Amino acid sequence: MGADVGRGVQRLPPIGAKVAAVRARIAAACDRAGRDPATVTLIAVTKYASVEQVRAVVDAGVVDLGENQYQQLRDRAADPALTAAAPARVRWHAIGPLQTNKARYVARFAHAFHALDRLDVAEALSARLDRPLACSVQVNVAGEATKAGIEPGRLAEFLAAVAEDHPNLDVVGLMTMPPLTADPDDSRRWFRALRDLAGEHGLPGLSMGTTADFDVAVEEGATAVRVGGALFA
Ligand SMILES: *Cc1c(COP(=O)(O)O)cnc(C)c1O
Repeated sequence: MGADVGRGVQRLPPIGAKVAAVRARIAAACDRAGRDPATVTLIAVTKYASVEQVRAVVDAGVVDLGENQYQQLRDRAADPALTAAAPARVRWHAIGPLQTNKARYVARFAHAFHALDRLDVAEALSARLDRPLACSVQVNVAGEATKAGIEPGRLAEFLAAVAEDHPNLDVVGLMTMPPLTADPDDSRRWFRALRDLAGEHGLPGLSMGTTADFDVAVEEGATAVRVGGALFA
């Protein structure tokens, strides 16, 4: 019996099997929370992946790709090995801190920006955009000294400033990176805090959850999870 049971799994390429496993965990978390898995976007974070590995996740049906290394984003957005990945066209998500001197790559190539937390970056981006760009504002929900993100108490002021001065930055949600921990359940309170803040501000998007804690993030309402290691490591 062993041969028959194992065969279907073994035939999948390794990355295809990892994509299937991550999707199954998202579906299970949705099930626990009474959510529709179609409301959760899986973003494959490619910063440590080779172009061949990225192509393999695209071939496995993942069309949303995340980068925080913006030169790599620029190179890969133009790489024929990826742009030719029919039938689905890939969408690049810029997910990490952005320096103003790289704003042009995000303005040109990104489908969405997940780490808006500074007005100088908002300024640099909107000056280079000739279209609306979906943005999530990064919030430092745990108030960690070394972490990027707006303090929760300053969010209202920041959202107002962006809305007033940068109509091309279409703020659709909030994003967070909770404190590193070995226990995924430790992230739950920070995901809830982000969800509450998003609710207060009428924002539908919640970009939260990585390899360490994406199941918990989905249970708490994530609309996008950013997963690297579970797909590529
Ligand atoms: C690297 C990265 C991720 C993915 O982290 P993994 O632990 O590899 O899943 C998610 N979000 C951001 C902002 C990242 O830089």
